[in-house]
Amino acid sequence: MPPASQILDRNLHIRRIDTYVDPVAPRERAIITHGHADHARPGHGKVLATADTIAIMQARYGDDCAGAFQAVDYGEPIRIEDVTVTLYPAGHILGSAQLLIEIGGQRVVVTGDYKRLPDKTAQAFELVPCDLLVTEATFALPVFQHPHPADEITRLLASMRDHPERAHLIGAYALGKAQRVISLLREAGYDRPIYLHGAMLRLCALYQERGIALGDLRHATEASKADLAGAVVIAPPSALKDRWSRRLPDPVLAMASGWMSVKQRARQRGVELPLVISDHVDWPELLETIADTGAQTVWVTHGREDALVYQCRKNGLVAEPLNIQGYEDEGEEE
Ligand SMILES: [Zn+2]
Repeated sequence: MPPASQILDRNLHIRRIDTYVDPVAPRERAIITHGHADHARPGHGKVLATADTIAIMQARYGDDCAGAFQAVDYGEPIRIEDVTVTLYPAGHILGSAQLLIEIGGQRVVVTGDYKRLPDKTAQAFELVPCDLLVTEATFALPVFQHPHPADEITRLLASMRDHPERAHLIGAYALGKAQRVISLLREAGYDRPIYLHGAMLRLCALYQERGIALGDLRHATEASKADLAGAVVIAPPSALKDRWSRRLPDPVLAMASGWMSVKQRARQRGVELPLVISDHVDWPELLETIADTGAQTVWVTHGREDALVYQCRKNGLVAEPLNIQGYEDEGEEE
């Protein structure tokens, strides 16, 4: 029986079955945790993932973006030789999964990206006990303590009341964040049409087809200036400052991102109304999750590895940074 730390190497390669988790380079066999571009790449031979993740990959990269797809349900164990792999919800975006790998009673969990707060656009996070935990560290510094997203939406609605003639243009990544902002607005009782940049339409439609209620969504480019006065418009962050936004009536520039807790970033982007809405755990939730899994060994990836490794060691765990090449450290999509 191999110790847990030999089941997987530091490139997230499951040696026994020659399968990579979220590989950056094309591989013969890959398990994909979720559809964000730094995890899901086109060009693999065989891809195992949730049906939602496969649908997202096909929507973004084309139906034949992998040689073959195998869709698995959450909690459904798949046995390959003497290895069992099972996906569990990660609570990050639609279809996002943590991966449990079991060999001879040893349990390794790769979290992918995750959060524990309820989110109607993602299946709810499940805690998976393990011996070795490979965790993301996007917001792994003590300064990152995210406010409750409902409070951020309350600030947005207040700004809309204060500026009834202005459009509110919200920058949000097209996969995950845009749908979450819409869903949070609906949850807060906002039932007017929400206008979308063209880059958002397809993924929002995919969420709706897959059972996520987002209400009345319209293409902003087809709306009149009068329609857009006082309206919510959602666009990719890159569109906030370009020609596209000039047609909106005196827009209030907002941006929904975990990074908006860093005031300097909001200022750099010219964001008037920063909304701290994160799809990742914050620092206290990271530490709590690591403790809850019971893992004695922790590998850290995707972000601020060093601070988390230091804290884990202080808590008596064996911890290491992975420093995998090719992951975007700032999280173009988060
Ligand atoms: Zn992600």
